[in-house]
Amino acid sequence: MPTVSTAALARGDGPPHPPADAVVVGGGTVGGWCAYFLRTSGLERVVLLEQDRLGQGASSRAAGIVRTQGGTAWAVKLGEWSRRFYLSQADLLGIDSGFTPQGYVLPCFTTADVTAAHERMAMQNGLGLDVRWLEPDEFDRMNPCMAPGLTLGATYRAQDGYLHPPRNVTAYAHALAVSGVQVLERTSFAGLDVTAGAVTGVRTSAGPIASPLVVLTGGPQLAGVGGLAGITIPAGAVRHQVAVTEQHPDLAPARLPMAFDLAFGLYWRPEDGGMLFGMSNPDEPPGEARSVDTEYLERIRGRLHELVPVTAGLGLRRTWAATIDYTPDHLPIIGPAIASGQTLNGAFVASAGGHGMMWGPAVARAVADVALQGSSPVVDTGDLGLDRFDEHGRSRLATDPIALPFPESTVQAQAFPESTPQAQAFPESTPQAQVSGEHASSSAGKEGPR
Ligand SMILES: Cc1cc2nc3c(=O)[nH]c(=O)nc-3n(C[C@H](O)[C@H](O)[C@H](O)COP(=O)(O)OP(=O)(O)OC[C@H]3O[C@@H](n4cnc5c(N)ncnc54)[C@H](O)[C@@H]3O)c2cc1C
Repeated sequence: MPTVSTAALARGDGPPHPPADAVVVGGGTVGGWCAYFLRTSGLERVVLLEQDRLGQGASSRAAGIVRTQGGTAWAVKLGEWSRRFYLSQADLLGIDSGFTPQGYVLPCFTTADVTAAHERMAMQNGLGLDVRWLEPDEFDRMNPCMAPGLTLGATYRAQDGYLHPPRNVTAYAHALAVSGVQVLERTSFAGLDVTAGAVTGVRTSAGPIASPLVVLTGGPQLAGVGGLAGITIPAGAVRHQVAVTEQHPDLAPARLPMAFDLAFGLYWRPEDGGMLFGMSNPDEPPGEARSVDTEYLERIRGRLHELVPVTAGLGLRRTWAATIDYTPDHLPIIGPAIASGQTLNGAFVASAGGHGMMWGPAVARAVADVALQGSSPVVDTGDLGLDRFDEHGRSRLATDPIALPFPESTVQAQAFPESTPQAQAFPESTPQAQVSGEHASSSAGKEGPR
């Protein structure tokens, strides 16, 4: 057995691993499902690199909302593909991500909301989604927990739902094991080997791996992963908070469709006899999340009390904050890696842009398809690559209006050495990579989370 110095391992030049047909970086929901899809598409040896343990980034800490009612055709298609995939998992794998169809309302509070909702619904219906309009009285009947008479109506889809994020990690961990993907946990990606504009392998903290195909993921740490490979990826990271109330009979699932309040960045769903609600502060500066912002939590609770009065008398059973990924236009990144203006043959980048529960499997499938055959039946990825961003990270695409109110300002390089869950709900993670990168962000709409 050859001996290798610690410094050599840090440089990524330890003993070589056997060559792989594909290497996927990042063991979150995007990387995990992508490695599984590559393997089940016929690649013999697929390796998944995870600097920590599977799912210890954003993927185990999410709220689990799966909304197909997106603001763009891309969002709708990715959401619907993922929803159908979740429903197919039990047959396919003998395990599933815990998807529960619950029904989802997007209430309108202004006439401008109503106009936008009808336009959106026409687009969604045109793509085959059975989203329908609820008049205010029907909305009130369907939402007995909400204070009556508040809305001008809402869009609704019965098939939208939520999954259980830790169970999704279990599901892809199982899929990776049974399909024969080699998972290297506690192994950090350290860079790409490139010859004549084409990838020939990766360097890792446990030595190099030769491979003609590499998919880079990383969620909130994606910009740093790209930086290690000399690729500028305008993917950001910012605090996102979730809380779960005490149980109450009024919050029984049959009385509580999932909902979100676009203007306030507030969404909710049933959770274990209580209500889970999540929120993003539009004024939150980009960066890693280390603690619950109790002041903002209380502000959002005030809004929640107005909308769902029963919550005013309820304590919180759990609260947590974690770092969520985002992209400047709130759309996914699916496409070839680009370094110094040149496409790196064989290297691809994938991000769900903060929508990894609702889009993750579809993004994973699409990037696997693009890597293997140049295009994907899931969604047309032609406009979703890195080449849509300028050198400041600004996208030429319009921002998806139905997304969390992510940061608006262009931000300077940030270091995200840890993925930083706060919380009482999940164990701390200890990723190792010391990464940095340019994060740029702007946001047209302050409306809309989940
Ligand atoms: C509190 C919270 C609530 C959320 N709620 C929802 C929701 O309700 N619905 C929804 O759709 N989305 C939600 N999201 C967003 C969703 O969780 C993310 O979009 C998704 O998990 C991203 O998946 P990923 O695989 O890209 O990233 P991650 O799950 O973060 O995985 C990336 C992995 O890459 C690894 N990594 C990083 N650098 C390296 C390296 N150098 N070498 C090797 N490995 C590396 C990390 O350790 C990590 O495990 C939420 C996020 C948060 C934080």
